[in-house]
Amino acid sequence: MLKYYIKTFGCQMNESDSERIASFLESQKIKPAKDINKADIVIFNTCGIRQMAEDRAYGQIHNIHVTRNMKPAYRTGRHETKKPIIILTGCLANRKDVQRKLKDKVDLFCEIKDFQEKMGEFINCHPELVSGSTKTEMPKQVRHDNYLCTTPRYTNPHTAYVPIMTGCNNFCSYCVVPYARGREVSRPIEEIILEIKNLLKNGCKEIVLLGQNVNSYHGACNMKHETKKINFAELLQLIEKIPGHFWISFMSSHPKDFSGELIETITKSKKICEHIHLPLQAGDDKILLAMNRKYTAEKYFKLIKKIKSAFAKNKPNEIYSITTDIIVGFPGETKKQFLESARVMKKVDYDLVYFGQFSPRPGTVAFKMKDNVSKDEKKKREFFLNEILKKTAFKNNQKHIGKILEVLIDKKDGPNYFGRTHSLKNVKIHLTPTLSLSRRGSLVGKFVKVKIIKSNIWNLEAQIIK
Ligand code: SF4
Repeated sequence: MLKYYIKTFGCQMNESDSERIASFLESQKIKPAKDINKADIVIFNTCGIRQMAEDRAYGQIHNIHVTRNMKPAYRTGRHETKKPIIILTGCLANRKDVQRKLKDKVDLFCEIKDFQEKMGEFINCHPELVSGSTKTEMPKQVRHDNYLCTTPRYTNPHTAYVPIMTGCNNFCSYCVVPYARGREVSRPIEEIILEIKNLLKNGCKEIVLLGQNVNSYHGACNMKHETKKINFAELLQLIEKIPGHFWISFMSSHPKDFSGELIETITKSKKICEHIHLPLQAGDDKILLAMNRKYTAEKYFKLIKKIKSAFAKNKPNEIYSITTDIIVGFPGETKKQFLESARVMKKVDYDLVYFGQFSPRPGTVAFKMKDNVSKDEKKKREFFLNEILKKTAFKNNQKHIGKILEVLIDKKDGPNYFGRTHSLKNVKIHLTPTLSLSRRGSLVGKFVKVKIIKSNIWNLEAQIIK
């Protein structure tokens, strides 16, 4: 029996894609291997956002290639093969320089949207792979224009990633996504709602809607013999109406598409998490222009003010969180321009920031710009901003002390449970002696009520009260 192993790099979208790859392979009677060294097929689902992620993939592909070269080749008919077969998909699959570099190590390069078709063709062209078992046929229901309609093999039963769109039309100058994934494609509304209903039926508690730019979602909806386009706020409203107690969260958003209707929908909802991730990327207008972000720092800050006022008006008793992405050391970023990012950070009071040190990505516009901020300076700038973040994150966390909050439990580690609040704050939960005896091992994937007893910079600590 053939076995596969998937190594996933990068973001939640890649993790979600890997769940669809797994489901397709299993539909072809190919089983998962627990250990990469026991697999007949190894799939690298790659990320090209930063050089570091790319280098990690090269390193692991090299290791597998070396190991398989030490194994004897086997022969079926005229074919001679060494296993495992190495397949590369994800962000790097389409890059000509990557294909050249890895041509002797990788057997198949394929974009994620073509995975099922290319994989089916590959196996059918290599009968020695399946050694006597049935040929792999393309399943009839597969739509090649939208691989997202495949039902995934979910890895987490209580928190599920549901992609609502893929690709991007924005072409930020530093980003590979529009080249790696192509233009935006939104999933039809019925398909998304059906997937969510099935997940909830199976006990899922949190639906994480994914897309490179979820708030430009425009999915088709069939209503009374006509097809209408639905925007992201309307999609959220429809999901909110599905009966049951569950949370809705989403990522990632572009500030230029964050509409007033969306802010009202989020801040009036009972199910949508009180958490907004709004990538800033830079606080200086000239750098934002060079990044092709299509907003100014002032416009971004006005949007944040609007979001905060809407929470204050619609959910005055709820604590919300705001997080962002910031790139340090974009080509030409002077110290003065960098300090504008620090200024916005101090004004917004972020709960969390995902920092990225600029890394030139082949094929992007910024790749041709002079990467003139040194590695050391990028590190220093990140450290400087992180010190600001530590203060604002801690200040925001302190607001939670003494509050009774609902937490979704993600895991148990040693004597503690770990989960998240509805504003997606991480919580470490201490068990009281009575609870530890009566409920040990039974809370993962459940909602519990906790009292927050301590706040740290990066998390909260709590005791279960119910
Ligand atoms: S919005 Fe910009 S950063 Fe985000 S995926 Fe699209 S091009 Fe990349």
